[in-house]
Amino acid sequence: MNHFEVRGGELHCEDTPLSRIADAVGTPIYVYSRATLERHYLVFRDALVEAGLGDPLIAYAVKANSNVSVLRTLGNLGAGADTVSEGEIRRALAASIPPDRIVFSGVGKTRGEIAFALRTGVSEINVESEPELKLVAQVAGELGLRAPIVFRVNPDVAAGGHAKIATGKAENKFGVSFAEAARLYANASNHPHLKPLGVACHIGSQITDLAPFEAAFTRMRGLVEALRAEGLTVERLDLGGGLGVPYFNRPDPPGPAEYAAMVGRVMAGLTDVRFAFEPGRVIAANAGVLLARVVHLHERPEGRRFLVLDAAMNDLIRPAMYDAFHDIRPVRATDAIPVLCDVVGPICETGDTFTRERPLPPLNPGDVVAFMSAGAYGAAMASEYNSRPLVPEVLVDGDRFAVIRKRPTYDEMLAAETPAEWL
Ligand SMILES: *Cc1c(COP(=O)(O)O)cnc(C)c1O
Repeated sequence: MNHFEVRGGELHCEDTPLSRIADAVGTPIYVYSRATLERHYLVFRDALVEAGLGDPLIAYAVKANSNVSVLRTLGNLGAGADTVSEGEIRRALAASIPPDRIVFSGVGKTRGEIAFALRTGVSEINVESEPELKLVAQVAGELGLRAPIVFRVNPDVAAGGHAKIATGKAENKFGVSFAEAARLYANASNHPHLKPLGVACHIGSQITDLAPFEAAFTRMRGLVEALRAEGLTVERLDLGGGLGVPYFNRPDPPGPAEYAAMVGRVMAGLTDVRFAFEPGRVIAANAGVLLARVVHLHERPEGRRFLVLDAAMNDLIRPAMYDAFHDIRPVRATDAIPVLCDVVGPICETGDTFTRERPLPPLNPGDVVAFMSAGAYGAAMASEYNSRPLVPEVLVDGDRFAVIRKRPTYDEMLAAETPAEWL
């Protein structure tokens, strides 16, 4: 459930008409609903608690939507942060998320990033490979610390979803194998600068079927038991993120309640372990929309209609990159008969097409449309391609809203560059 609905003919975010934001702040612009973010986090947490998983660490995956106000909204409810770079750790800290709720993941952490994470005192560094383990041990040694580590294991299950976001097969670059995990865990347990806490997995994103999760989690439980049988201490089990959301064109995927019940079933009777989860999309996707204005309606003589928007693939890359579907709704509701349109941005690439032959009510230049379910992997993946200023963001709370990332001016955009001295 989310807080975007039509009231009195106008699409609202909570108690705020979206047209008011478009008029006041301009388009393109991302708009997030505080109530929806909070609701999604609490539903996810409560489902896990109810399923008997104790007091899990819910480390929101910062990469899905990394705006500090979004992080602060979730952090205030007790969320932690799953981070994949020093920049994301810094964002989490800026949002007052305490280090003991920060997880540091990622396949290519640099020496500098590892040192920063260790000095910050993050809760766990999720180690993805043997070379990385060596680097973490070395950096921890230089700092005179014991690094809290969790081994990211590749459970070798196919999780469906788009190939670019599936991560749980042995052929993907993520994590160590089960065989390696046991050997590395044992070695690390005897290392003066490593403190292995447990194991982790993350099998992919936008997973709309519980079966691959169940297969992976069953294997992870087996690994915990196998490690314990070797006399090793395992106190943490991080099950990653990846739960999918409805993007309106498919049957609804399982929700947090079904997911949590399955985890509870798989983990029943496993004691002395703190569970961690790293949800991103399921928290943020349906808590945000991208607003865009129609620039032109271009009809080809042979009948094809193009709706040219002021938003482009640099603002929302998911359709171009993942063939993703976003529902597109006019912010002023109408019951006029839909016509088939290709919805495109202004960038000179055919890939800058949001959708083809979509039935939409007739729209005119100046009308505002909302790309629904754009709160995750939307603004966070935006760029300045075509020298378009980075898309701004707004957070709504009831009938008020705040610009939480402003639209840069052209001067600001150019100020980051210094012409070479010889030019
Ligand atoms: C991307 C990612 C997540 C979040 O995935 P969602 O599909 O957004 O829930 C969690 N953990 C890791 C390690 C990731 O790379």
